[in-house]
Amino acid sequence: MSVRVRLAPSPTGNLHIGTARTAVFNWLFARNQGGTFVLRIEDTDRDRSKAEFTNNILDGLTWLGLDWDEGPFFQSQRFDLYDRTVQTLLDKGLAYRCYCTPEELSALRESQKAAKQAPRYDNRHRNLTPQQEADFETEGRVPVIRFKIDDDREITWDDMVRGPVKWKGSDLGGDMVIARAAKRPDVGQPLYNLAVVADDIDMDITHVIRGEDHIANTAKQILLYEALGKTPPQFAHAPLILNQKGAKLSKRDGATSVSEFREMGYTAAALANYMALLGWSPPDGEERFTLSDATAKFSFDRVNKAGAKFDWDKLNWLNSQILHEMPIDALLDRLIPLWQTAGYEFDPEGDRPWLERITATIAPSLTLLPDAVDMTRSLFAIDVEFDDKATKQLQGEGVSEVLEAVAANIDNSLNSEDEAQAIIKAVMKEKDVKKGVVMKSLRAGLTGSLQGPDLVQSWLVLHQRGLDKKRLEKAIAMGE
Ligand code: GLU
Repeated sequence: MSVRVRLAPSPTGNLHIGTARTAVFNWLFARNQGGTFVLRIEDTDRDRSKAEFTNNILDGLTWLGLDWDEGPFFQSQRFDLYDRTVQTLLDKGLAYRCYCTPEELSALRESQKAAKQAPRYDNRHRNLTPQQEADFETEGRVPVIRFKIDDDREITWDDMVRGPVKWKGSDLGGDMVIARAAKRPDVGQPLYNLAVVADDIDMDITHVIRGEDHIANTAKQILLYEALGKTPPQFAHAPLILNQKGAKLSKRDGATSVSEFREMGYTAAALANYMALLGWSPPDGEERFTLSDATAKFSFDRVNKAGAKFDWDKLNWLNSQILHEMPIDALLDRLIPLWQTAGYEFDPEGDRPWLERITATIAPSLTLLPDAVDMTRSLFAIDVEFDDKATKQLQGEGVSEVLEAVAANIDNSLNSEDEAQAIIKAVMKEKDVKKGVVMKSLRAGLTGSLQGPDLVQSWLVLHQRGLDKKRLEKAIAMGE
């Protein structure tokens, strides 16, 4: 039987990094096995599901290169299937209507709490007589539908990540609600576990790959498969994503949704690469790869059980590697909109050779795309602002003479790194100063700061716009 996996996000928020990592594992496994990757949007919760979140999820998956083969299917269009499934369970006597009121259930919880017991439903409406049901209905109570879970059941499965897993029926909280608002003859609004099993059966899903937070649901779902006379799929529970302190990754850790990472300036290639490493390691130990490179190497044997700690340094490293190796042309195309938003003045077409030179100058220093905005501020600016350290440098003994000598050597033919180096050498000789002095003074004078991308390249960029001499004149005046 060919492999069929699914990603089943709920559109109640933007594409979460945990869901995206689950998507990566599903995608890698499907592609490794020559299988099918199905996308199903779990939007049965009408109040919390929003079209904008669905769009965010689809955009995020597409941006990451996680293409799906079937779908997106929407659970909100599949209620008939869930109704039929609930009805089947009622007909088989494996589910029933429970008429407990919220007050009764909270009183039950309180008494369990007082007795230091775990909260659970005590199955009190499991065996109501038709007369009792009719009486509750006359009272106007609206039932839910519960699926019977016997306490003495033992549920086991061989998890592709965790190995053999065992659950006791008594740990599942009593008979579980599978549909709400089930006033006869309606079978109500289906809940998560019911809809998932109905869909996974209907869509012939062979492997359910999802986060470890669903492990108790898996035990419940296995009982539903059994009740419906179906063989459960195989399950793989990927480890949770944790912060550096070992707690679940949250907003406070910086970012949790794919769109936030994108806005921060991470590339899709780096984020996808990094997500694959959140819980998995390739057998050859190579940490840099594209998702398509990884398909051949992927297996659940190398997925960890332990939580995966989110390592910003590694993600930053991957992103910087990808930016450093990107062709200048492609990198420039990504930088142009950022520079435009920053209000820098240039002609994206006519200035292209100059822009390429700027891009090449800063490419080796980039970690995130938006770093390029600050790094190039002094290259785009018409006038230079000197910061405190640069001012101090320019006011140093003999610095203006050094810069005067540089300025005197600049002519219109300056175009290459060699020519710029030759000027620096000549000034060292003429003024009898060390190279460091010339470089530091030149950096302060040309860029207004003592830090920045490659100095000689920055100089050439400024020279191309005829700005280097003007800046040096201003810098010389600072020292006088
Ligand atoms: N809608 C569920 C979620 O977003 C899907 C879990 C599953 O894969 O079954 O967590």
